[in-house]
Amino acid sequence: MKKGSLIVLSGPSGSGKGTVVGELVKNSDFCVSVSATTRSPRDGEKEGVNYFFKTKEEFIALIDNNELIEYAEYLGNFYGTPSKFVEDKRNEGKNVILEIEVVGAKNIKDKCPDATMIFLLPPSMSVLKERLQGRGTESPEQIKNRLERAKEELTYIGNYEHFVVNDDLNTTVNTIFNIIKGE
Ligand code: 5GP
Repeated sequence: MKKGSLIVLSGPSGSGKGTVVGELVKNSDFCVSVSATTRSPRDGEKEGVNYFFKTKEEFIALIDNNELIEYAEYLGNFYGTPSKFVEDKRNEGKNVILEIEVVGAKNIKDKCPDATMIFLLPPSMSVLKERLQGRGTESPEQIKNRLERAKEELTYIGNYEHFVVNDDLNTTVNTIFNIIKGE
């Protein structure tokens, strides 16, 4: 069986990555990797569905035991991708999507040069701000930090081959399907 692809999807907080991934995985050839994080769960987030929520000590044990393909710190919390799930699913022929930030994405690119690297852009910074405010999951201080971080993240775009402006969800999802088909 042909091994599944590895697809890295990055983009600033509020660019709509989660919604786009939710659409992509409606296709049974695709699945999304669930990350481990030391961030606290937001309202409605479920263990094993949105994230595996870990203490800092538990997260460090995952690193020490070599259980993560990559990890990074983002605004004071650790986030990382468990290796086993990704390998198992790819060996089953599934295309695995990693929805991760730019530092971890760079590490994936170094380890797996055949990964498809996609950067999702918001139509503008003001739209990004409106989306972050509209979803109501972060405090004004956290929104400010996420917007600052968005600007830093843009300096990493040289590590990506594909850029998609997420203006209209259907168009974005179709564009990403076409990118993956074309690889
Ligand atoms: P959030 O707190 O909004 O869920 O995620 C913050 C950032 O961490 C987002 O850019 C998200 O894509 C990224 N992220 C989530 N999981 C991982 C992971 O396993 N590794 C890395 N490097 N970043 C992740």
